[in-house]
Amino acid sequence: MNTAMHRILLIIPVTALLACGSPKAVVRTSLPDEPARQLAHRGSDAVLWQNSSAEAYWIYRQAYEAATTRLMWNIVELGKEQPAGSPRRPMAVIVDIDETVLDNSPYQLHLVRSGQVYEQATWKAWTDSAVARPCPGALEFLRSARKAGCEVFYVTNRDVRERASTLKNLNDHGFPDADEAHLLLMEGSSDKTERRARVRSTHDVVLLVGDQLRDFDERFKDRSVNDGRNTVDVMADSLSRYFILLPNPMYGTYRDAIQGKGTEVEKLQRTEEWFQRNGY
Ligand SMILES: [Mg+2]
Repeated sequence: MNTAMHRILLIIPVTALLACGSPKAVVRTSLPDEPARQLAHRGSDAVLWQNSSAEAYWIYRQAYEAATTRLMWNIVELGKEQPAGSPRRPMAVIVDIDETVLDNSPYQLHLVRSGQVYEQATWKAWTDSAVARPCPGALEFLRSARKAGCEVFYVTNRDVRERASTLKNLNDHGFPDADEAHLLLMEGSSDKTERRARVRSTHDVVLLVGDQLRDFDERFKDRSVNDGRNTVDVMADSLSRYFILLPNPMYGTYRDAIQGKGTEVEKLQRTEEWFQRNGY
């Protein structure tokens, strides 16, 4: 098949997506290379599961139901811990955005379909379109948190150039507190510790929700010992009380720990090494 034909085949899914009102994103002018195609293929089941399984749908709803129960419990406990008559600080809930309140699996599906891997340019085109749908249960949870007296802070590793489109996307769906003061974007580092501390300096944080353990504590970035499970054991009590974790097999710290950073060739190589090292 010649190059021109390849290009036409790549363009078709994009126009099809446009026609059905899905993301007008991810237009790529060059052909995906073979390592990118291999990496995309390896992730395809994870993306299909996240996007289309009733299991993922229910896990989200279940997690947000648990979040609501936990939130109410923590508010009661916080009230008991504070001396009577002492001034109350405002309460807050911290949520991540991607795969926590907004579902980006359509972007990931398109990457799989066209044999591409994540790139900043295609991701920006997707977020610019501001068409991501709410994750199941997220809106209901955040509205009940607001009703219970909590402000909502969105602590995300989207970058500052994505501010306007992110706020538009959140506001289009009626997410509470979707304004500049409550949106803490990435400014240099993906480590959210400082941003969480900024919220804690003025508010009592009652609950956090995310699809990555790093949305709770940066110590979970380190997966060098037992793939990070020991850190889960050490922090189990505070995780149980203050954090609700959502599923995301599509990308994240777990995969970065296997693939590392760099070119697609390097990522494939490290993935092979992982299989060999673990005896598969
Ligand atoms: Mg996320």
